[in-house]
Amino acid sequence: MIGTDRSPQAMSIGELTREGAMLLLRAGIEQAGLETGWLLEHALRRTPLDLRTNESLQVEGEGLRRALDLLQRRANREPLQYLLGTQEFCGVEFEVEPSVLIPRPETELLVDAAVRYAGMQSAAGRRPVIVDMGTGSGCIAVSLARRMPLAVLYATDRSAEALRVARRNAERHGVAGQVTFLEGDLLQPLRACGVSGRVDLVISNPPYIAEREWEALQPEVRLFEPRIALAGGEDGLAIYRRLVQEAAELLHTAGWLIMEVGQGQAESVRALIEATGRYGTMDVRPDQAGIDRVVCAQKQ
Ligand code: GLN
Repeated sequence: MIGTDRSPQAMSIGELTREGAMLLLRAGIEQAGLETGWLLEHALRRTPLDLRTNESLQVEGEGLRRALDLLQRRANREPLQYLLGTQEFCGVEFEVEPSVLIPRPETELLVDAAVRYAGMQSAAGRRPVIVDMGTGSGCIAVSLARRMPLAVLYATDRSAEALRVARRNAERHGVAGQVTFLEGDLLQPLRACGVSGRVDLVISNPPYIAEREWEALQPEVRLFEPRIALAGGEDGLAIYRRLVQEAAELLHTAGWLIMEVGQGQAESVRALIEATGRYGTMDVRPDQAGIDRVVCAQKQ
């Protein structure tokens, strides 16, 4: 059995498929069969059809070692996306590695909101200037660049490793010339770019997990995703408190701040925005699960 037998010399694809699925099932992974298939396709560099029609084929050497390693790591609850190296977002594949948060489907709502609000502003005939704070894998900035070829984008992150991944994703999708990547805290790196008061949109999916929520996170998230991308201080709102202020400096009048928020945070974030006295109209949008997920506020 995988995980008990030290190092089998050879296993058939059928054995790997069945035993891999058992291993993942025992580790509490719901889609054990599907995930085993994806991991074996990746490790053995074979198509799903290949695997299904070659069940008796013996796997050995490097291929077997890769397959067993990936299955064991997944059984230890390492996220599937880090093992496969990619995650789909807004219809295209993004490279991910443990230095970046794995893009989530609900974050696509931010991209939709940004496209809508940028469209409202482009009536003036200018190229929209958009800032993505805490870009991580670059999924938001790159998706916006793809959907708005005229937009000028700046993407910041505190993590140099994350920015390397984001740059590779921009190159992969042919938008590297459209996005300027800047290392630093929140919106501070923008100060040197001469865009204060000229930005149309500030968009961010900031870290928003509160300290008390940490222990209840899935092991995939808690043990493997970057804490710097998740932890939002004691109450989860630490980054919002600063971001609403810093964004107000960058945005021009009528520009929009667009932020993802965690479950149950929309009201508190709205209150933080109101307390600055620098924004007018607000718009809160739910995700597919009905959770208020995107908070938009217009600078006044
Ligand atoms: N902007 C990236 C995303 O939405 C990273 C966000 C983060 O690291 N908190 O996936």
